[in-house]
Amino acid sequence: MDRKPTTPRFARALREVGGELVDLLLPRTCAGCGVETVSLCGPCLTHLQPQPRTVAPRYGLLPVSGAGEYSDTLRSVIVAMKARKRTDVLPVVAILLAAAIAHALEESGYTGGDVTAVPVPTSAAAMRERGRDLVAELSAHACGLLAADGLTIRSTPLLTAVRHRDQVGSGARDRRRNVTGTHAPRRRAQWEPVRGSSRIVLVDDVLTTGATLAEAARALREAGVEPDGCAALAVTEDGRRGRAEDAPDSVHDV
Ligand SMILES: [Zn+2]
Repeated sequence: MDRKPTTPRFARALREVGGELVDLLLPRTCAGCGVETVSLCGPCLTHLQPQPRTVAPRYGLLPVSGAGEYSDTLRSVIVAMKARKRTDVLPVVAILLAAAIAHALEESGYTGGDVTAVPVPTSAAAMRERGRDLVAELSAHACGLLAADGLTIRSTPLLTAVRHRDQVGSGARDRRRNVTGTHAPRRRAQWEPVRGSSRIVLVDDVLTTGATLAEAARALREAGVEPDGCAALAVTEDGRRGRAEDAPDSVHDV
């Protein structure tokens, strides 16, 4: 049976990777707090220790596991990575995503077998803006870490963004309307191994209302594949069932 990953292992991995980042000794500002030091300072690395949690988002039927709340240091690091192109923090962020995926598997009652992680597709506009597909990269990196930890897992980009309407309005309902129909199954993807997977986990960066993950789940079902859960780097308070109208814009739009 596959070894089940545990949070303390991720905490240790985070310290080790953090140590490697410190070793680079590049003159930088900390992506967490802005102090002039290395990519991430000691106190920020401590704040980034995974604190996995699973929430029921406003939209979609699947639970979403995050490595932490979208606030404080975690929020600063994600915004730095996405909006300020601080890709030097990718190794640390991938560990957080690995912790979230492991938590999603635990929550789904996973005891072994092949796992497929499916990154939420990036819009053409976001690709042009950033020149890379961060969610797909992070998903592949996180799965690599989990595979090294003994899990049979691979990240497979099964979905593609088919159209992207401008985000009209900032409310949760507007965003849900805007995202519906924007994802589609990739026809040339390797679907057969996926159908034999023990678990299929959708992966995104930040959970806001759940509209994006719900759309990705819809597109997977269109291809006859049923996802078992979702993992994100961070989950917002506002994304939970109940209060969502004031949710911040998805960081897809940052
Ligand atoms: Zn810092």
